[in-house]
Amino acid sequence: MKVRYSYLGEQFSDCDDLWDDLKKFVASGDFTLGSKLQEFESNFADLIGVKYAIGVGSGTDALKISLKAAGVTAGDEVITSSNTFVATVGAINELGAIPVFVDVKKDSCIDTDLIEYKISEKTRAIIPVHFTGNVCDMDSIMAISKRYNLKVVEDACQAILGKWNGLNAGSIGDLGAFSLHPLKNINIWSDGGLITTNDETYAYQARLLRNHGLVDRDTVLKLGFNSRLDTFQAVVGNWLLPKAEDIAEMRKSNARYLDDGLGGTQQIQLPQRNELSSGVFHIYWVLAENRNALYEYCLERGIEVKIHYPTPIYRQDACKMFSFGEEFPIADYLASNSISFPCDQHLRKEQLDYIIKVVREFYS
Ligand SMILES: *Cc1c(COP(=O)(O)O)cnc(C)c1O
Repeated sequence: MKVRYSYLGEQFSDCDDLWDDLKKFVASGDFTLGSKLQEFESNFADLIGVKYAIGVGSGTDALKISLKAAGVTAGDEVITSSNTFVATVGAINELGAIPVFVDVKKDSCIDTDLIEYKISEKTRAIIPVHFTGNVCDMDSIMAISKRYNLKVVEDACQAILGKWNGLNAGSIGDLGAFSLHPLKNINIWSDGGLITTNDETYAYQARLLRNHGLVDRDTVLKLGFNSRLDTFQAVVGNWLLPKAEDIAEMRKSNARYLDDGLGGTQQIQLPQRNELSSGVFHIYWVLAENRNALYEYCLERGIEVKIHYPTPIYRQDACKMFSFGEEFPIADYLASNSISFPCDQHLRKEQLDYIIKVVREFYS
């Protein structure tokens, strides 16, 4: 049996109604910003439970523009996870700010007990990364940010509809950053992203910054970026968004099924799950004894497993200059022991059963 990782072909195999919407859109010529983008932003804000959503060119830009809107400038320090996708660190670096790493816990979320040791005179913001769809302990992070007067930009790129204590990821910090990259849970046909916030000033700044700082076609208030969400892609987003809750629920139910099937195996350890955190399993992963051999074994049997990631970001050559030789043992531990299985909404029950069977077979 084959269990593929990417399901994009399946997701858009039946979308004649979307093509109808796109034809109407193309005929309208309303290609830059425009009404379809506004509609998508408003739908997205409603979905996440915030006042404002601002479409931008990518999740990376959502982070970068959020930081800049929150006042982060060159030389400022921004605290983030030792274990994340490169884009988090790249966005900080693009502003000339300095990423400061903090280790994660065994749930892959930033260890909030370690944050205060890294706060200096120059610290301006924290980016908690809701990595793999697990939502970080936002109560502790918001408490720290208040104590030290820091801004919080949630990296919710992997966590659409993940929740902390009933609140959506991206609705708790000062700003939230989402990605619509084809590999994310809610995706479009190209790059794209969104910024969420409840603060009118941040929303205004983010809107300015994504469009060159133009207030109107003849007035530039401050220099910004060319990073508008493509209006064509907003039409795709409007088509997919009504399915968002179902997609999140199906991923959660697949994850529970895999937890039940794999959890009994002695050599498999399920990640710690904080009871206030409700993850969306953008990535379903477990800790596995003899991980590398299991990885090969699954691939040989048609299961497209992955590792997120074999080298933690702080160890990458491009980022070493920010870790000053410090080691982050839990990030290292996850890199050597975690393995990710497909868990998406298009998997069939036979495929989930097959994953469980192959893993059990490997250890027996
Ligand atoms: C995907 C991702 C991003 C960046 O999103 P893009 O849309 O690819 O720019 C940022 N942070 C995390 C954790 C991500 O997974």
